[in-house]
Amino acid sequence: MKVEEILENARKAFKLTTKHFNNKITFERALFLGWYCNLKQPCKFCYMATQKDKIRDPRKARRRLESILAEAILMKRIGWKLEFISGGYGYTAKEINDIAEMVAYVQKCKQYLNVGVVDLDNINLNVIEGVVGAVETVSKDRDWICPGKPLDKIKDNLLKAKELGLKTGITIILGLGEKEEDIEKLLNLIEELDLDRITFYSLNPQKGTIFENKPSVTTIEYMNWVSSVRLNFPKIKIITGVWVDKIPMISPLIMSGSNVITKFPLFSIFGTKEAHWIEKEILSTGRELLGTFTDIDILAGKKVLEKTPYVEEEINISSENIKRVEELRENINERIESYVSKVLKRVV
Ligand code: SF4
Repeated sequence: MKVEEILENARKAFKLTTKHFNNKITFERALFLGWYCNLKQPCKFCYMATQKDKIRDPRKARRRLESILAEAILMKRIGWKLEFISGGYGYTAKEINDIAEMVAYVQKCKQYLNVGVVDLDNINLNVIEGVVGAVETVSKDRDWICPGKPLDKIKDNLLKAKELGLKTGITIILGLGEKEEDIEKLLNLIEELDLDRITFYSLNPQKGTIFENKPSVTTIEYMNWVSSVRLNFPKIKIITGVWVDKIPMISPLIMSGSNVITKFPLFSIFGTKEAHWIEKEILSTGRELLGTFTDIDILAGKKVLEKTPYVEEEINISSENIKRVEELRENINERIESYVSKVLKRVV
C-alpha cells in the first residue's frame, strides 16, 4: 500500500474510533507471574527462553504472591487496567484460578487471562472477563517461530471461551518477518474468532535470540496494521504496545485507531521525563487520558485519581483465597511501600 493510502486510512480510522469509543485513551499493563516458561519448544523471539537454562529451580522464578497483589492494587490506584494476567506455560489450572481470584478480589474487577490454553472447566469464570490467545504472528513462518503453541489449539480455546460467554482477544507481535499481505490473514482470523480485542506489540529484539540484530517494525507499517483492523472492525478494542525507545510511535498509533497504550516498564519510568513525554504524545492527539503515568501523589496514595477506567464489580471467590489475601495484607502493604519508594527515590 502506498504511504498516502496508509495516512488516509489512519485519518478515517481515527474518526471511526472517536465515533465508537468517544475520546478516551487508557494505559494497560500485563501482570506477570514469573520469569519461567516450561514450553519444550519455546518461541524464537522470547527473552524467557534465553533464560531457561540459567534457571535451576523454576519455582524460584515465580513472583511472590504479595508482590503480584501489590502491583494489582497500585495499578488500580493509578488507573491502569491489567491487560491480562500472564506467565509462561507451566502453571496448573488451580494456580491460575487462585491467582485470578485473588487479583480480582483486591481490584474488585474481573480479569483477562493470557496463560496458554486455559482449562476453562476448572477456573472460576465469575472472576474472568476474557481470555487472550498468544497468536504472536500470522506470517507464514508462525509454526517455526512458535513451535510450542499450535494455532489450532489457541483457536479452539478462544472459541470455547466465547461459547462460555467470555470475551476473547489475541496478541500479535510486529517485526517477526510478517509481510503486508499477511494483514488479510489477520482480518480473517479476527472475523473467524469474533474477537473483542487485539493487542499489537512492536518486537523488542532480545539479545540471544535470532531476532537480536533484526530491525523491528516501522511506524508506517505499524499504522497500516492498526488502521486496517480499525477500518474493518470499528468496535474492536485495539491495544498497542511500544517500548521506551519508540515513544514517538504513540501518537501515530492513536491516530490509526488505537484505544489503549501498553508495554511500559511502569515503576522504572513512572514520573520521569519519559513518562511525561508519553502522556504528552497521547494528549497531542486531542484525546483525553484516563489514568496517570506522572502523578506521584496518586501513586503514593495521597490523592485519589479523578477519572479511572475501573468499574467496580461484585467479585465472589473462595473463602480460602479471601483468607490467604487477608493473611498477606501486611506483606502486600510493605511491597506497595517498597514499589512507591523506589519511584520516589528516582524522581523526587
Ligand atoms: S509461551 Fe510465552 S513465555 Fe513461553 S516461550 Fe513463548 S513467548 Fe516465551
